[in-house]
Amino acid sequence: MYDIIVIGGGPAALSAIQYAHGKQLKAVMLCETLGGKVDWIQRQAGDEQQLPFPGVDMVRPLINWMSQHTDYVMRDRVRSVAEGLNGFEVTTDRMGYCLL
Ligand SMILES: Cc1cc2nc3c(=O)[nH]c(=O)nc-3n(C[C@H](O)[C@H](O)[C@H](O)COP(=O)(O)OP(=O)(O)OC[C@H]3O[C@@H](n4cnc5c(N)ncnc54)[C@H](O)[C@@H]3O)c2cc1C
Repeated sequence: MYDIIVIGGGPAALSAIQYAHGKQLKAVMLCETLGGKVDWIQRQAGDEQQLPFPGVDMVRPLINWMSQHTDYVMRDRVRSVAEGLNGFEVTTDRMGYCLL
């Protein structure tokens, strides 16, 4: 049973789980990888010299924080979220489900 289940491992999820920890909520983050898409490189066609924006630098402190709080993360992929009698049920590939 959790107060908050955060789905994904991108900057939004990393910020949310850190905030939940700060508020002393029982929280878990379900994700396969940490960092999300910030390390994807996007350049305009015809402008290969353009430097990528350093989004990964912004998210690195959050990833470092997560590495010291591994009890807050489960490596898994969410399959469904459904409202149950006592809250929400999150079904994942590896676990049966957790109640929120
Ligand atoms: C092609 C491209 C290039 C980009 N280039 C740059 C760049 O150079 N610099 C920059 O700063 N920003 C870049 N961005 C923008 C940056 O990626 C986004 O602003 C940022 O990643 C958004 O963060 P987010 O946490 O909302 O989502 P995301 O980073 O997308 O994170 C979502 C996470 O949720 C996970 N997830 C999704 N479904 C599930 C599920 N069912 N179960 C478990 N996990 C799940 C995904 O695997 C992912 O890890 C780029 C974006 C794109 C699409």
